[in-house]
This record gives sequence, C-alpha cells and structure tokens, in this order.
Amino acid sequence: MTNYVNITLALFSFVISSLSWPALAQAQDGLSSPPSLQSTEIFTKEEKTLIQSGRIFKVCNVIQQASNDASLGIVKLIAGKSGLKFEATPLIPWAEALKGLKEGRCHVLPWATKTEERSKVMNFTRPYVRIKRVVVSKKQEPYIRDLDEVSDKVFAMLKSNYAVTQIRKNYPHMQFVYVDTVQDEIDHILQGKAYGTVVSLYSAANLFNNEQVRELKVVGVLPPFYDDIASLATRKENNVLHSILEKSLIATNPRLIEEYMTEGAVVSYDPEVDYQKYWSVLFAVILLVSLLVWWNRYLKTLNAKLKESQRKLELLSVTDSLTKVYNRLKMDEVFIQEIDTCSRYGTPLSVIMLDVDYFKKINDEFGHIVGDNVLVKIAQLIKSSLRRNDFLGRWGGEEFLIISPLTNLDKAELVAEKLRAALVNTKFAPLKKVTASFGVAEWKEGESQESLISRADAALYRAKDDGRNKVSV
Ligand code: GH3
Ligand code: MG
Ligand code: MG
Repeated sequence: MTNYVNITLALFSFVISSLSWPALAQAQDGLSSPPSLQSTEIFTKEEKTLIQSGRIFKVCNVIQQASNDASLGIVKLIAGKSGLKFEATPLIPWAEALKGLKEGRCHVLPWATKTEERSKVMNFTRPYVRIKRVVVSKKQEPYIRDLDEVSDKVFAMLKSNYAVTQIRKNYPHMQFVYVDTVQDEIDHILQGKAYGTVVSLYSAANLFNNEQVRELKVVGVLPPFYDDIASLATRKENNVLHSILEKSLIATNPRLIEEYMTEGAVVSYDPEVDYQKYWSVLFAVILLVSLLVWWNRYLKTLNAKLKESQRKLELLSVTDSLTKVYNRLKMDEVFIQEIDTCSRYGTPLSVIMLDVDYFKKINDEFGHIVGDNVLVKIAQLIKSSLRRNDFLGRWGGEEFLIISPLTNLDKAELVAEKLRAALVNTKFAPLKKVTASFGVAEWKEGESQESLISRADAALYRAKDDGRNKVSV
C-alpha cells in the first residue's frame, strides 16, 4: 500500500507569487503574449537564421531537488516558443554545470546568478525568478533571526554557489564545507559535519522529497540581499543565442514561470509506514466494529423479544384465557370509548347479551372439560359471524356480550337472530345441540353503561322466560 502525500509549501508559493517583476511586466504589456514568436518580427535576420538552422542547444542539466527535468523544463518554458531546439546533458552538480558552460560542454545554464566575475565569460538574461534563501538545520536547533547568531557555525554549501560569496561579504570568518548536491548538504547536517545550509526556498521545498528531512527544519529566512536571483546564462560567444533567450523571456508570461516554480515545489513522498502498527490498529478497528455490530444486533433481538412479550402481556390483560375473546375488563374499556364516540357524533350503538341455555346441565352430564370446549366453540362461532368493528367479550361464566357500534336496534336484533340460528345449526359433539338466549338493547342518548347493560340483561331474561333459544329486545 503506497500512500503518497502531497505537501504543498504554501510559504514557497507565497514567496514566489509575492515577487514583483517591473521589467518583465512592462515588457509583457507591450507584447501581450504572441502565440508564436516566429510569426512576429521580434527576431533579427541573424537570430532567425540560427533558429532555422535546427541546431540543438544543450541545457546544463543541474541536479535539482524538484525533478530531473527541472533544468530543461525552465529553458523550454522560456525559449521553446522561439523555435530553438534544446536537449539536456546528463544530470550534473551545480559546480560542474557552471564549469560545463564555461568549457562549452553545454550552452544554456539555468538557475545562474549574474556576477561580475561570471559576466566576463558569460551573458545573462534578465532574472526570471527571485527566490528567498533560508537556513536549514536540525529540528532541535533554535530559530534564528539573523545569520549573526550562527556566524560561528559550519555551513555545508554547494560548490561555486554564489550565496557563499554573498555571505562572505558580511561574515568573512564563516566556515563552509563544500559539497556537490543539496542531498550532500542534508547528509552533512544529519551526520553532524555541518550545522546547516543556506538554500533557496525552491530547494528547501523539495527537500521534503527526502524522508530524512523529518529531522530537519527551516530555522530562518534570510533578508532580500541573499535572494537567489536566477537568469539563463550562455557562453559569451553565443551572443545570438543570448539575444533570442532574452527576447523570449521578455515575451514569456511571468505567471507561467511562477506556476512552473510552484509546481516544482509540490513534492510527493512515501511516508514510512509502520505496517505492524497499521495492521494492529486495523485489527482493533475491525474488532471494535464487529463488536458494535454484534451488540447492536443483540440489542435489536432483545428489543424485539421485549416488544413481543409486552404485546403478549397486553393481549393477556385484555383477553379471556379460555375463549380468547375480550375479557370483562376490556369490554368495560370498550364501553367507555364507544359511548364517548356515540355522544360526540350521534351515531347508534347496540349491545347483545347472550347466555347459554341449560349450561349447568351440560357440565353435569358431560363434565367441565366438555363445557369448556363448548364455550370456546361458541366464542369462535360468534366471532366469525361478526363484523370487524364489533366487539365480543366474555361477560360472565357462560355469558357473552357483543358491542356493535354504528348499529341500531333493528339491525342488532337481526345479528342476534343470525347468531341464534347459527348455534342451532352447529354440531357440538358429543352434545345433541346447544342453544342460547339473546337480549338486545340500543343505547339511548345520555344513558350510562350500567343502564344499557341492565336493559340488555332484562331482555335476555325475558328470552329465557319465553322458553329459551330466543332473541328479545
Ligand atoms: P339457564 O338456561 O337458565 O342459563 O341455565 P344454566 O344452567 O345455563 O344457568 P346457570 O347460570 O344456573 O348455570 C351456569 C353454569 O355455568 C354454572 C357454572 O358451573 C357453569 N360455568 C360457569 N363458568 C364456567 C366455565 O368456565 N366452564 C364451565 N365448564 N362451566 C362454567
Ligand atoms: Mg348464566
Ligand atoms: Mg345459562
């Protein structure tokens, strides 16, 4: 598993973008970015001839922390539009690149600061970038405000780096160890052979390509005097090449260069992953998640069980255990609720009271168990004959009560008659037949539950008196 972390050095972008380029900006206004420099008349005959010759110029390929293509890239960005052809030499340290230019092994040297001495043998374009220089040292070193504070220390510096000359001007006694590459500078610091180094922020940003850099930090920023001011250097004798580069630079949008430099300062690095730790953390996380999932499921089943038993309990509390129809308690509740609805909406409500005939005899002749079964069967029979919104309850031993909402006396009488007939036509083996007597009453406005029940009761007893197996209203 490769984890690339992009580190953008915002500070670097800030420094680059905050630089102003009056000379370039002015030139830019006049030229307004031509699509191709060849189509414009900015080049002289001589310059055009060189471009059209197809000659390939070698770019001194300075080792840069940013990328191996950084040197060729910046030259192509600035002068590619001119039509000139470039290729890079093998990667070489800064000092070798400088020497290579002087000795003609390469023709264009990027990242070069113009100095009086170098100017004797080289041409320099105007600067294309100006970057802050910083002091890099070990993490534990304190921050500095001024080079003064570390003027007695040893610095690892690139050979032929102009920064050394600049520092020497102010600190003649500062000690330097000369190395080839920025990587060597880092190694010197890590090995304690040097206190630190002075590099451009561009290089510093790219130090983070190296994981050793975790031991390092930027301890201070140097004043503008030390800024790294970069130009394209060419050999004195290649003055036509120089003028083409100069004109190309003037015509290059400074923003493009700024973006190029910023891009170079965006580094990716592969952090050292402690896989042992990684796996144990992953394992712990998986374990925790599994545990949570299991716990959640456990709670859910527990909750479902609880709800189920609660439901059962509720059902039990309203149900008659033998016949499974409502018990008297529930019927009382239904009464309150239904009478309330009727009072409010003026809808009819009737009750049917039912008592099994000669039940005592059934018990006596066939035993209590048969009696019980008869009660269960009667309850089932009534229930299946009723509408959904009728309520059936066991009122007493062998007495059932039906509460019929939205039903007037006539209709309730019909229902009772239907039930009576159904009972007569049902076989109750081993009995020959079972009958019941019915008392029907309709609720009158303002009437109490007790009054309604007693009227239904009275009707029931009239039915009994009348010879049983009868409906009375
Ligand atoms: P009637 O036609 O006048 O109603 O005569 P009956 O014998 O049905 O009247 P009574 O009220 O005198 O007798 C009811 C009997 O019902 C008395 C009781 O033993 C019996 N009984 C009450 N509850 C149960 C029960 O849950 N199971 C059984 N097997 N018998 C019950
Ligand atoms: Mg009875
Ligand atoms: Mg009875």
